[in-house]
Amino acid sequence: VNERPRLDAAVLAALRAVAGEAHVIDDPELAASYETDWTRRFSGRASVVVRPGSTAEVAAVLSVCHDAGIPVVPQGGNTGLVGASVPRRGEVVLGLTRLDGLGDIDTVSAQVTAGAGVTIARLQDHATAAGLLYPVDLASRESATVGGTIATNAGGIRVLRYGPTRARLVGIEAVLADGSIVSRMGGLTKDNSGYELAQLFAGSEGTLAIVTAARLQLVRATPHRATALLGVADTEAALAILQRIRHSVTDLDAIEAFYHDGVEMVCRHTSATPPFATPPGCYLLVECAGREDPSERLVNALAECPEVIESAFATDRAQQQQLWRYREAHTESINAEGIPHKLDVTLPLTTLAEFEATVRERVAAAVPGARPILFGHLGDGNLHVNILGPAPDDDRATDVVLRLVASLGGSISAEHGIGIAKAPWLHLTRSEADIAAMRAIKRALDPGGILNPGVIFGHDA
Ligand SMILES: Cc1cc2nc3c(=O)[nH]c(=O)nc-3n(C[C@H](O)[C@H](O)[C@H](O)COP(=O)(O)OP(=O)(O)OC[C@H]3O[C@@H](n4cnc5c(N)ncnc54)[C@H](O)[C@@H]3O)c2cc1C
Repeated sequence: VNERPRLDAAVLAALRAVAGEAHVIDDPELAASYETDWTRRFSGRASVVVRPGSTAEVAAVLSVCHDAGIPVVPQGGNTGLVGASVPRRGEVVLGLTRLDGLGDIDTVSAQVTAGAGVTIARLQDHATAAGLLYPVDLASRESATVGGTIATNAGGIRVLRYGPTRARLVGIEAVLADGSIVSRMGGLTKDNSGYELAQLFAGSEGTLAIVTAARLQLVRATPHRATALLGVADTEAALAILQRIRHSVTDLDAIEAFYHDGVEMVCRHTSATPPFATPPGCYLLVECAGREDPSERLVNALAECPEVIESAFATDRAQQQQLWRYREAHTESINAEGIPHKLDVTLPLTTLAEFEATVRERVAAAVPGARPILFGHLGDGNLHVNILGPAPDDDRATDVVLRLVASLGGSISAEHGIGIAKAPWLHLTRSEADIAAMRAIKRALDPGGILNPGVIFGHDA
């Protein structure tokens, strides 16, 4: 892991000629931040980090790597949580944050063209300034990029209302493994002329193509928000509320669940104090947003829910951010306690409560002393199971959690992807025929297997 693999001198010279001396990095200190993932669980040495500044440069870099048979790991903001954005076996890391062009917003179609390296926060601000909204939103917004969120089909906190990243995609520009460029950026909302490559690349985790830009659909702004933090007895009660307000509140934006152990951890690592004097069995964060103030509707709808034990409402931005902090600071607080195993699973809403009630004891039985911390996007049936305690390479807890998910009809990845972390378990929730079809697509587009090797299918597959 510590040796920096050497590239052939001619290849290195060709990469320097394409991207420029300053953007081909092999200095250990400068390369370090590209070589370890956000969780610190995954790291490796890159042969070199290349930071192309345009689509043409990406194409030229790919062409050099393709001809020399050199594997490439694409990287955006490096906030991915499944080990797929950092090198494992001396690959070239292709840093894409210099592709940061952001076009004017077409207010007629409510679309914008964004470079792969544009951060989600910058894109959101750009849309807001034009009176529109880019609704993909996640706690990593300051670093996560357009390209990375497309490659992972990122979900986040507003999937319930607006869908995941793929629902924003009108068109894509991407570079294939051999350096050829595919592009449909005309902004047509209807276009049935053959296979839809943008959707194929969404969620492909850098294994099929390098995304260089995208044409994205924005939505109408919803400037008025109402946020409530609720205390309820358990996950079952939280689901009962979800079921009721989903029908009675039309502008429901987010519904997030978390638990006492997570809130206690957040309070320990931030300046927050516990929201309620008596910790409830489950916390529920509910947010509505609209063109008019939705507060009254939310308060009235929640008044109809006998499951609510405690509640705190916020209508101004500062208070809302305070309530969101209990939820959004989970990830960084968990990271501050150790190197977590992060499992991002989705369950049918009918088995989610059973999963939540069972998973802690299964983990404790598999690895004594392991601490599972759960939180997630309840409205989507998506729970993040974070396990502290097991060594980074100890997969016993992962195995029992993912098998439990499969037995309850769920999926082993809701939104983070399979990456390296979950490749050995792909077969649990995808059939042999599914995997064969996916492999055939991979082989067709990347016959040399140079794009993000090991991701989704595993290294030895
Ligand atoms: C605090 C925190 C909160 C998070 N919350 C959420 C959440 O709510 N929902 C969610 O879905 N995720 C969440 N994530 C995970 C992460 O932010 C997303 O997976 C995000 O989409 C990654 O974007 P990125 O630019 O950082 O990509 P990276 O981490 O750099 O890469 C992610 C994957 O995409 C590939 N890739 C990157 N750029 C490109 C490109 N241009 N072309 C082709 N492939 C590329 C990489 O090879 C890798 O496989 C969170 C992460 C953190 C740290």
